Amino acid sequence: MRALRFVFVVGGVLSGLGKGVVTASIGNLLKACGYKVTAIKIDPYVNVDAGTMRPTEHGEIFVTEDGGEIDQDLGTYERFLNQNLSKNNNITTGKVFLRVIQKERALEYNGRNVQIIPDVSDEVKNMILEVSRGYEISLVEVGGTTGDIENLVFLHAIRELSEEYPSATVMVSYLPFLENVGELKTKPTQHAVARLRESGLFPDFIVARSELGLDEPRKEKLARHCFVPKAHIIDDPTVDNIYKVPLIFEKQKFHEKLLKKLGLPFKKYENKKWKEFTEKFESGEEVKIALVGKYVTYGNTEHKDVYISVIEAVKHGSAKIGAKPVIVQLDSRKLEGNGVEFLKEFHGIIVPGGFGTTGIEGKIKAIKFAREQNIPFLGLCLGMQLAVIEFARNVCGLKKANSTEFDPKTPHPVIDVIPEQKELLEKKMYGATMRLGAWEAVLKKGSRVWKIYKKRKVSERHRHRYEVNPKYIKILEKHGLVFSGKSPDGKLMEFLELPNHRFFIATQAHPEFKSRPLAPHPLFVSFLKEALKLKLETSKRK
Ligand code: GLN
Repeated sequence: MRALRFVFVVGGVLSGLGKGVVTASIGNLLKACGYKVTAIKIDPYVNVDAGTMRPTEHGEIFVTEDGGEIDQDLGTYERFLNQNLSKNNNITTGKVFLRVIQKERALEYNGRNVQIIPDVSDEVKNMILEVSRGYEISLVEVGGTTGDIENLVFLHAIRELSEEYPSATVMVSYLPFLENVGELKTKPTQHAVARLRESGLFPDFIVARSELGLDEPRKEKLARHCFVPKAHIIDDPTVDNIYKVPLIFEKQKFHEKLLKKLGLPFKKYENKKWKEFTEKFESGEEVKIALVGKYVTYGNTEHKDVYISVIEAVKHGSAKIGAKPVIVQLDSRKLEGNGVEFLKEFHGIIVPGGFGTTGIEGKIKAIKFAREQNIPFLGLCLGMQLAVIEFARNVCGLKKANSTEFDPKTPHPVIDVIPEQKELLEKKMYGATMRLGAWEAVLKKGSRVWKIYKKRKVSERHRHRYEVNPKYIKILEKHGLVFSGKSPDGKLMEFLELPNHRFFIATQAHPEFKSRPLAPHPLFVSFLKEALKLKLETSKRK
C-alpha cells in the first residue's frame, strides 16, 4: 500500500458553512477513485466529547459503533463514505489535554516542563496518525474558523504534518452577496486566507461557498489575492440536496486536481450508485411524516439539526421506495392541552430519542393517536419507552405508569433505570457512561421485525440509561404488546410491536445512525412503505 497522504480542511469567515459536507464529499470522490480513505473531525471545544452537550443548542449527538458520542459531522462522513468510523476519529481539545495531563502525572515527560508546542501539538499529531494508519488518504477537518484562539494548536500540528506527509490544504470560505451593489464579495475570504498564512499554512484549494455560485471575475479575484491557481477555486453554491455536492465537485474535476496535488495517480472513477441515489432522491409520491420531538428556541432560532440522522434515514428510505418525504417537525409541547386530530393528515409518525421531561406528555399523546388510528408509528429509544408508558396507561389500565426518569415516585415504573446505571448517576458520573454503541439483539421468529431484518441476530447502536422494567413485561404482554427483540441474555427489551396494527414498531436502539444513502435502513424502508400504502389508500378514498 502507498504511504499515507493528508487532506486538511479548514474554514474561513464563518462557521456553519457545511465544512463537514465538503469534507465528506471529498471523501466520497476519492473513494470513488479507488483509494482507502478515512476522515477525522477536530472539535476545538474543551468538552471531552459531545455527550454532555444539549442537542437543542449544538445539534444531534451522533453515536459510533464503538460507543462514541460525537459531533454530527461524523454522521455525515459515515453517510458519504459508506463506512463506519471510530470514536477516535473525533479529536477534541478535551481529549488531547486529558491525554497530555495523564502522561504528565505518570512522569512520562521525564521531569521537563510540558508545553503547548511541542507536547500538546505532538499529542494532536499522534492522535491523527493513530486513526490514519492503514489508509491511503486521511481527511482532517478542523472545526471553527481560522483566527479562533481555540484552533491554533491544531493548525500548528497540521502544518507540521503537511511538511512530513504529502498533503493538500482546502480552505472552505464564504462569499457574501451584497444586494445593494449586486455583487459577491471576496474580501472576507482574502482576510481569512491571510489569517491562515499566519499559522504557516497556505491553501492549495479554496472551496467558495455562496448562495448562488461563483462567476469568472470573482474566481479571478480570489486567485490573484489568495495566491491559489484559478483552477483550484472550487464553486460550492447552496443546494437543496447535500448529496449532490460530490457531483458538483466532480464536474469541476476536484478529485483529479486533489490527486495530482497529493502525487497520486488518477486511474478510475466509479460513482454510479451515488448518482442514481441523488436522481431518485425526493421524487415520487409525497408521504407526510410527523417527527414529534423537542424543539427549543435558542435566542431567536431553533436548531435545525437536532434529529438530523432520523431525517436523513427517512430520506434514504424514501429514495429506496420511490417516495418523496415531507417531514414536519412537530414540537411535542404544543400537543399538550390541545387536540391532536390534525395528526390524521400524516401517513407516518416518528417519536425519536430524547432526555428530560420537556414535552413528554405531548409525545405520548401522539403515540396514542397513532396506535388508535392505525397510523404507521416508529419509536426510537425514548420513543419506545414512551410507547410502553402509553400502552401501560391506556391499555393495561395502569393510569399513572411512567418512567422514573420523569417521575421518580410513579406507582408504576414501567421504565426504570438500568441497575448498573444507578450507581453512576448517584456518583454524578455522566460523561460517556450510558449504555453506548453497538449491542446485539435476538429477534423473535415470525415477528414483524424478524421479517423486516430477515435475520435473527441484529446489531444496532445505543445511547440510554433506562430500560423496560422487567417486572412489568408480563402484564404488558398479557394485553397484547409483543417484545419482538431482546438482548442475547433475554434481560433487556430491545424491540416491541403490535401485531394487529398496520405498523407499530419501536426499538430501544437508534437504527437511524446506521442508515446510509447506499444502504438505507430496513426498519425505515418498511415504515415508509406502510406510510406510502396509507397515502395511496386515503387518496383513493377521496
Ligand atoms: N432518556 C432515555 C434513556 O436514557 C432515552 C434515551 C434516548 O432516547 N437516547 O434511557
